[in-house]
Amino acid sequence: MPIVNKNSEFTYKRLEEAIYKISKKYPFTDLFSLGKSVLAKNLFCIKVGNGKTRIFLNGAHHGLEWITSLFLTAFTEDICDCYCKNKSVEGTSISELLKKVTFYICPMVNPDGVNLAICGLTPDIPQKICQKLIIYNKNSCDFKGKWQANIRGIDLNHNYNAGFWEGKQKEKELNIHMPGPTRFSGMFPESEPEVQAIVKFTKMLKPDIAIAYHTQGEEIYYDYQALASKEAKKIGEKMARLSGYTLSAPEGIASFSGYKDWVISALKTPAYTIEAGKGKNPLPLCEFNSIYDKNRRMLVKLFTDC
Ligand SMILES: [Zn+2]
Repeated sequence: MPIVNKNSEFTYKRLEEAIYKISKKYPFTDLFSLGKSVLAKNLFCIKVGNGKTRIFLNGAHHGLEWITSLFLTAFTEDICDCYCKNKSVEGTSISELLKKVTFYICPMVNPDGVNLAICGLTPDIPQKICQKLIIYNKNSCDFKGKWQANIRGIDLNHNYNAGFWEGKQKEKELNIHMPGPTRFSGMFPESEPEVQAIVKFTKMLKPDIAIAYHTQGEEIYYDYQALASKEAKKIGEKMARLSGYTLSAPEGIASFSGYKDWVISALKTPAYTIEAGKGKNPLPLCEFNSIYDKNRRMLVKLFTDC
């Protein structure tokens, strides 16, 4: 029986249970926390592999996009299992792959937002925060299936220090002036503890490639203000070929203050946003297998020549 159940919504509690079991069952992994969310949940990260190419994968910057956390956790278990059993995936030996590559996987960057999007207001959220959230949600107590931001109404993927103030201007043009379910970037860059933790870890790790998983459109974004290198574009083309997704350049508000924008501009490192799946957020679980197959193939075959 696999540890990760792919048939129900993936809350923080389910992530916590699964990731502890995976780390116990596969002692060659290393489980740690990158920091805490506003409500003190762990930003778990698990290391798998011994290779010198460091790949940082993260999911669910956005609450509604918890299916990316489920994908990354199931992928972790899968490659650990294949490593133990000396199995191949898509013709690639996982033990050979893990000699070349080390994956650092943070499945849920925004655990408070994921829980709010799945469970709504729960007793563990302090009353003061609940009251603010209702105001940010246009006086509605219905958060299920709506919430992308963190528990303070800040959109974490607009809170990075990359074109933050230009993004802020665009935000105002779109009439977004206060915290809410989506798109409010905060009062200043890196104001949120989740973003601070991801920035600190990325700087320390100095990954060769960083990938942030989102959902919507089966696209891969690889550039920020034409700063991506030729090599980064080439990697993006290979990712697109392997997954069947489209390689794209972002436009408008989506092109500011995101994680990949910051990695590309501040660290001069290839970074990607992968929009896995298609449909209305939250993507239904019936989309999971398609997301899983395409992205697993892409991740195990991307590094076969590196
Ligand atoms: Zn997203």
